This record gives sequence, structure tokens and C-alpha cells, in this order.
Amino acid sequence: MSVLDLARAEIRAMQPYSSARMEASGGKVFLNANESAWAPVGDDGLGCNRYPEPQPAALIEALATLYGVRREQLLVGRGSDEAIDLLVRAFCRAGEDAILIQPPTFGMYAVCAKIQNAGVIEVGLNADATLDVDAVLAAVTPAVKLVFICTPNNPTGQLVPRESIERLAEALAGRALLIVDEAYVEFAEVASVSDLIDRYENLAVLRTLSKAWALAGARIGSLLANAEVIALLRRIMPPYPLPLPCVHAALLGLSGWGQANAREHLATIRAERTRLSKALMQLPGVREVLPSHANFLAVRFDDAGAAYQRLLAAGVLVRDVRRYPNLGDALRITIGTPAENEQMLTALKSSVMAGQNVVEGSA
Ligand SMILES: *Cc1c(COP(=O)(O)O)cnc(C)c1O
Repeated sequence: MSVLDLARAEIRAMQPYSSARMEASGGKVFLNANESAWAPVGDDGLGCNRYPEPQPAALIEALATLYGVRREQLLVGRGSDEAIDLLVRAFCRAGEDAILIQPPTFGMYAVCAKIQNAGVIEVGLNADATLDVDAVLAAVTPAVKLVFICTPNNPTGQLVPRESIERLAEALAGRALLIVDEAYVEFAEVASVSDLIDRYENLAVLRTLSKAWALAGARIGSLLANAEVIALLRRIMPPYPLPLPCVHAALLGLSGWGQANAREHLATIRAERTRLSKALMQLPGVREVLPSHANFLAVRFDDAGAAYQRLLAAGVLVRDVRRYPNLGDALRITIGTPAENEQMLTALKSSVMAGQNVVEGSA
């Protein structure tokens, strides 16, 4: 049994679109793709008059090195969001198959499933935001083709231990693909599980340059997986997914200069996470700051709605996550620059005091 037996038969059988770029290489005069022969104004040598490489070799090389996988185990797309969508479309038959998620978690898994008319089976996290591996395994029906695990989880910030990932991968072999979303792993003090891909053919890992690499605007995300899974998804991916300026920005970001810059900001974010977490816990009106391994804090308030409004009035936007299960009293606060974090704390302190004044005034 191959992991591809889990995929939709018609996707495995289909003839993919063959682009001019894929069909020919090695020429000097390009009259094969109906492009303009002239660069646009302000192009500065980038070459935007030509279609980009479908999977740019230099970027694949840089990302495979960064993530410690082989080139054929990596698919690069428009954010990891694109990989989530491709996975659901390749593995879930509309109206028949399903994905399994553990709310509260990242919203795109369920959105992509709904677009494909795949089912969404939910196994809630424990009250302390940890994952119940036995409950997940017990909920896997034959319809479930994809199990998404987000670690560190958005919006709670908790980690799923490596042993749990291994247990799940092992138990799901031949039944479902296990997709570990590590969008925030750079902020955690644990290693990626990408080294396990060679051991478990049904394991896939999502990584992104959007968070720790400061490139959300460039939309560069990767799927690390078994080479057969990567090759399958390439068949249904649009021919030229990655805009040239975005590839250029990513290569700069991954250069020695870019890596040094990212490391410096990572250190700041971790230090600020510790500082903010303590400072927030001391504020009256704050019930709990969930332990976080990401670049945000989930914070429980006596009155999260009021806290949100006071922050907004001070021009500070945070994410209202009260609609998520178990987070009915919480806001998710991204770690910003030290100055921005100070503005957030100041706004919350004044709101607490204003709140007390109202109570005192009415007493
Ligand atoms: C931000 C985020 C992503 C999306 O990342 P992109 O690469 O920007 O598409 C994926 N998963 C989780 C959990 C996220 O929080």
C-alpha cells in the first residue's frame, strides 16, 4: 500500500496542464510562451516580462536546506494556505471524505474542506489546550483522509509533543495523511518533526516564511512530505504560482543577511513574550495568560469585549478569539516591537483604571 492510495483516483489519473516553461528548457530565444520580449518599466533586471519558474530551483534549494529535507520532498506555494487547499482537493472526494481537526485551531483547514464539500470532524482540545491523542484516534473514521495537527497551535500557543506526532503517524499509516502545521515552530524551543518524513510516508509538515521570516506579504509557504505526495500536488497546482518579485524577496530573506536579521528579531520576540506574559498576568482584569510557544499570547480577561474595545480606542488591534470553543473570554495578542507592546500594555492599564473608576463612580 502506498500513501497515494489515499488520494483521489481521478487526480492520480489526470493529465496535468503542461506549460511552455515545463516543456522546453535550454533555449536562448524565447518565442514559445507568448510573453513580451521587453521588460516592463522599473524591472531592474528582474525579468518580469517572462513567466516565472513553476518551482524556482534556487528557492527550492534554499528552503530544502533550511528545512533539512530533499528537494523532491518540498513543494513551495502561495503561503502554506495554498498547500492546505491542494491537500484537501487531492485527498478528499467531495461529499464523501473528511478531514479531522482539533478546535480551537487555525480556521483555514475547515474552510478549505468546506470549499471542497469534504466533512470536518472535530475533536476538541482538552480544557488546558493540550491534545488528546486517544480521542483523535478514536474519531478517525474510514472517511477521514487528512488529520491536521497545529503545533504550536494557533490561537492557543501550545505544543503537541513529538511523541504524540509519532504515535499518530504510526497509528494512521495506511488510513490517513497526518499534516503537522508548524507555522510557528521557529518561536518554540523544540525541533521540527520534518526529520520524521523519511520514517512515516503518511506524514507531511507545513512551514511558512510568513511569521518568523517577516515575509507574510510575499506569500511563500512550503509543504514537506513524501516525494510521491509532492509530485501528486504538483499536478493540480496552477502552472506559475509564484510571482517573480516574491521569489526574489524570499531569496533575500533567506540570505546570510536575511537570516541574521530574522535571528535577531526572533530573540526579541522571545524576550518580549516572557516580559509581556508576566506584565499581563499582573494586570487586574486579566484572568490567565496561556503559556505560548508562538509569537502571540492568548489572554483571558474578566471582560474580553471591553478590553478589546479599549485597545481599539487606543488604536491597538488584537484578535478577538471569543468565538472559538474554550476561548470565550480571550483575546489573541501578537508580539510586536517593544514600543508597540508598551502601547498595548498602557492601553490595557488605563482601561483597567477607567473600569475601576466607573465602578467607584457608580458606587
Ligand atoms: C498564519 C498561519 C498559516 C498560514 O501561513 P501562510 O504561509 O501565510 O499561508 C498556516 N497555519 C497557521 C497555523 C497559521 O497561523
